[in-house]
Amino acid sequence: MKEDLDKFVVSLNKYITEPQNKHLQIEYRIKTVNDEIRWIRTRGMAIWDEEGNPIRVAGSITDITEQRLADEKIHRLAFFDSLTGLPNRALLMDRFSIAEANARRRGKSIAVFFLDLDNFKTINDTMGHTYGDKLLLKVGEQLRLKLRKSDTIARLGGDEFIMLQTNISSMDEVYKLAARMLNVFKRPWKLDEREFYVTASIGISIYPNDGTDLKELMKNADAAMYRAKEKGRNNFQIFTPELNMKIMERMEIENHLRKAADRKEFVLYYQPQIELATGSVRCVEALIRWSDPHMGWIMPEAFIHIAEETGLIGNIGEWVMSTACAQLRKWHDEGHDDLRISVNLSAKQFQQQDIFEKIMDIVEKTGIKPEWLELEITESLAMQDLEHTTSILSRIRDAGFGISLDDFGKGYSSLNYLKALPITNLKIDKTFIHGITSSVNQAKIVKALISLAHSMDLTVTAEGVESSAQLGFLLKERCDTAQGYLFSKPKPSKDINLSSYRTCVETCMEMTS
Ligand code: C2E
Ligand code: MG
Ligand code: MG
Repeated sequence: MKEDLDKFVVSLNKYITEPQNKHLQIEYRIKTVNDEIRWIRTRGMAIWDEEGNPIRVAGSITDITEQRLADEKIHRLAFFDSLTGLPNRALLMDRFSIAEANARRRGKSIAVFFLDLDNFKTINDTMGHTYGDKLLLKVGEQLRLKLRKSDTIARLGGDEFIMLQTNISSMDEVYKLAARMLNVFKRPWKLDEREFYVTASIGISIYPNDGTDLKELMKNADAAMYRAKEKGRNNFQIFTPELNMKIMERMEIENHLRKAADRKEFVLYYQPQIELATGSVRCVEALIRWSDPHMGWIMPEAFIHIAEETGLIGNIGEWVMSTACAQLRKWHDEGHDDLRISVNLSAKQFQQQDIFEKIMDIVEKTGIKPEWLELEITESLAMQDLEHTTSILSRIRDAGFGISLDDFGKGYSSLNYLKALPITNLKIDKTFIHGITSSVNQAKIVKALISLAHSMDLTVTAEGVESSAQLGFLLKERCDTAQGYLFSKPKPSKDINLSSYRTCVETCMEMTS
């Protein structure tokens, strides 16, 4: 409060000794008799006598405490994260520009740390958002303790924290801080009487080597953080130019992908699914291929996730479905009247509110029956929101479409999904099929899966069948359909063989009997 008093006296003196100052305005704090601190604004104007001497002051004294508090709140909202009280993006930018000017002048570096908690979503989902929020607050507090006063830690939202380590002269300092950060996660977190472990992945980029503005440095640190996740989480990675190459590649794919549909660069390949009891083609799976004039042939695994992240999957998915249905119509017209077609659906497509109407529309326009179309979905799709997925899938199934659970065994493979989802067919992932002949346990799992699915009135498709030995096992276990290079690789519509694969199946039967 002493400085407030000094300020007051200085202003008053100045006002009185310099009569050209017509008004007086001072804001200061006072301590009340109850020891409360209040902000006061005093405004005044001197009244002078004829000889030019000040004789009294007229004005007002106002308590502006509430206004000051509101101003502070606005300031906090503008520059701090409301959950953790840590700086937000705006303040981080500000701090970076000061650190950058310093580093430039003194020839030093700045490290930008991008930290993301591993499996935070699971904590939120299982323990609730309030619990998740408390954890973020604690993590923020602990991380802040590991930094020097001149460093900054900010939260950008979600479970992402950014740290600026300023004035560094060697990478050693960076490694040490990264290790200290990871150490924070070595102990269990105690919250509401519960104890549990959470780990984090960290990506680091260095100013000026990896970028000179914060946006670029954060983008590169983010790429390094993804690398840390890929490497099994709970570790840190430093950005490298090779990672940059990956980003550039991704950006190139993204740019081209935006134009690919208009330029008619997508094609569908088809792979038959063989009914093992008869050797005939029960269904063909439509698999997308992209031929870019500069990059050549691009397989779906290299671009579907980008299409999903950029929202392009909606249009691509509709194109796939219309083209596949039109092709089926053509095959039916050519005499393959029992043939069905299966189309892969992405999780993102499923989030469209009108997905059911879109599917119905395509089916009607191309003149095919719902019974002829099978939709392949993956567990990751179901996991997004089980209730929503189940209700839409039920509508789809009730309309007569088939629903296949694809890649079963690849991810979490919860039997829960098998029970909850209204599916009609189970596709066992190729990794399991490949393991049939090399691992006794995998063979046992496939055998059990087939019988489990049958007991639930589901048909079973084995994917990725490559050898007669695998086919022999599947025949013995009464798997319904099989798909794989043993019969045919995915091919353009004109090249695919839709007649019987009976000889292939029978030869295999003879070999294994
Ligand atoms: P998927 O639906 O599980 O498709 C089966 C994948 O296994 C295909 O890869 C196919 O070429 C491959 N495959 C088939 N038989 C064998 C075999 O005997 N051995 C081996 N090693 N592989 C075999 P592809 O065409 O590269 O597609 C990969 C994934 O991309 C698909 O997996 C599917 O999830 C996705 N995908 C493909 N087309 C589309 C599409 O139109 N829309 C969406 N959303 N996803 C698609
Ligand atoms: Mg599939
Ligand atoms: Mg599959």
